[in-house]
Amino acid sequence: MNQIPDVLYGTDRPTWLIIGASRGIGLEFVRQLLQGNNRIFATVRDKYAEHCSGLWAQAGSDHGRCQLLVCDVLSEESIILVANLTAVPNLRLDYVVINAGVLRYPNRATEMSFAEFAFHLHTNTIGPIICAQNLLKSNIPVGTIVFMSSDSGSAQCFREMEDGFAAYAASKAALNQALRHMAAELKRKDDDTIIIAMHPGEVATDMGNIETGWTVEGIISPEESVVNMMRVITTRDVMDSGTFWTWEGKQYPW
Ligand code: NDP
Repeated sequence: MNQIPDVLYGTDRPTWLIIGASRGIGLEFVRQLLQGNNRIFATVRDKYAEHCSGLWAQAGSDHGRCQLLVCDVLSEESIILVANLTAVPNLRLDYVVINAGVLRYPNRATEMSFAEFAFHLHTNTIGPIICAQNLLKSNIPVGTIVFMSSDSGSAQCFREMEDGFAAYAASKAALNQALRHMAAELKRKDDDTIIIAMHPGEVATDMGNIETGWTVEGIISPEESVVNMMRVITTRDVMDSGTFWTWEGKQYPW
């Protein structure tokens, strides 16, 4: 069950919420944040899954600086619960990283089933957007919301050789468009929450290591990706809301 310890209330340390932190890039965010002066809310789908064990033992014993919450972005109820739990008095979420994502390879437009396509759209597009929407609705002050997108979702940089990624690419392209609308709607309301999309690079994680049959040039470690993304994320300002960035700090075309 999700419960917030007292130590996470009313803190003046930078506070981060990482959605999808059980492994890969999300886990690396938590690992690096624990090295600094941060408060962290991190979500996993299953606290007791074997792959969640190592860091969580460490985080759990770290004076409550990292609070583990349960969130499955395929469940609206679960998303709402997390938004409600983080909306506690005097707490501001400085940075929210919506990192959860799936890639079930291959997913070709000429072959994929209805269910396969829906699975990518639900996890990579609808879940992340509804998650951000609920945090905004909860009235908790939020500084920056980062959506983990992908270069595959860029319409301008369409890569014909990228075989087997149709549902994944379409889900990230849809995420990109939806988050741009979110940024524009917030600007119209004079809400200073910064909304950005990030491409983390081609990263050696369970997802990045999938045997795809085509060679990805320049695969980087989660450490390298995250240390650079943190620099990009923490140096954005309100003028950057509605923009797309790479881990190297280059603006990426939609
Ligand atoms: P991993 O497959 O290693 O990790 C994916 C993470 O998403 C896990 O923590 C997983 O949790 C979580 N997740 C999956 N489904 C759900 C769900 N329904 N609800 C909540 N959490 C969920 O991938 P990466 O770390 O490589 O990817 C992280 C993000 O970066 C993704 O959005 C991905 O699309 C994006 N990205 C990655 C690239 C790469 O090269 N690795 C390149 C471009 C973008 P669980 O352990 O429970 O499955």
